[in-house]
Amino acid sequence: MNIDLAVVLCLANEKKNQPFDDYCAGVVSRMLAQNPDERAFLQQYDIHYYIADNPSDNSVARVVDADDNDDLENGRHFAIVFNRDILARLDTEDSMAFVIGHELSHILYRKDFGDVKELAYGEEACCDCNAIRLMRGGGYNLLDIAAVDALYPCLPEGMESRLSERRAFIQRNDISMTSALGKSMPLQKDTFIHLQKEPWKRENIFEQGEPDVARIIAEMVDIIERGDRDSFKRGLRDFLEQKSTEEATKLVMNILGQVMPKFSPVTEMIATCRHRKKIYNHPVVMMSDIVMEQFNRSGKKLLPPADVQIVAKYMQENRLYFEQRDRRLWEPLRKTMAAATMFGSNNIGGRI
Ligand SMILES: [Zn+2]
Repeated sequence: MNIDLAVVLCLANEKKNQPFDDYCAGVVSRMLAQNPDERAFLQQYDIHYYIADNPSDNSVARVVDADDNDDLENGRHFAIVFNRDILARLDTEDSMAFVIGHELSHILYRKDFGDVKELAYGEEACCDCNAIRLMRGGGYNLLDIAAVDALYPCLPEGMESRLSERRAFIQRNDISMTSALGKSMPLQKDTFIHLQKEPWKRENIFEQGEPDVARIIAEMVDIIERGDRDSFKRGLRDFLEQKSTEEATKLVMNILGQVMPKFSPVTEMIATCRHRKKIYNHPVVMMSDIVMEQFNRSGKKLLPPADVQIVAKYMQENRLYFEQRDRRLWEPLRKTMAAATMFGSNNIGGRI
């Protein structure tokens, strides 16, 4: 997980954070309903909303790349992280919509979407103006932006010019702050206010000696509950790198042989699950780049026959998923298994 994110995420238990994530996603879909271009663009990315408990940070929210590389330009998975105590000082969903709209606009800005960069001078002002546009689309009350500005005890640097850029944008587009935009909605504080601070960091099970397959699978179950797959993947990757290709591929096959029958099939999950984060936490999906790395290493591979049977059947049953979405797992594994069967089925478990 991104270091920046690890520092601010004190409430990273994804299961408990879920109601807040759902609430924010609802606010976003309301704002994007009238902005189909933005909606289509943002749908390419995995964006989730978190609550952090970080008294040393005085911003209400920030957007970060949720992967290792903190890179909004090229990233695909983002976290918008709210500072709980500061967010709790807002009273309306309309104020929060401005904050979310602003953070989403950073993604749009960095990725050069539409005319966001031309709305004003400077990234922050552009994101403010675009947030206003999104708020209007969602029918939110623009007067509630003032409550967000009031969160800062004194005007942060550059705020004066941001405010005047905003005013100019509103005038230029003839946006009325006081028109009948509907009543403000109360901020649903119950989605986040009772979250207890639970600082945690996934322990690296690979540093505590040789974990057996059962221990690795247990960790994968825990990732579905609590998230932070990246620390686990990093640990597993380092662990496999230290092993011979035979040992490493045997372990990878043992893991796949156990998780494939245990968890719901990926094709089925993708069809029914609207949370992309859960898809990335699926053990088979989590394994895909690890499979690619290990099966592309030069050296002999060891394929235990019982696991090969399970994996081949699973790949066949989920063929559509692997062919269309996960060639990292599909291709190197299929190639290796095909090469193994060329020597006859008796040798399928042999070394190649
Ligand atoms: Zn900003």
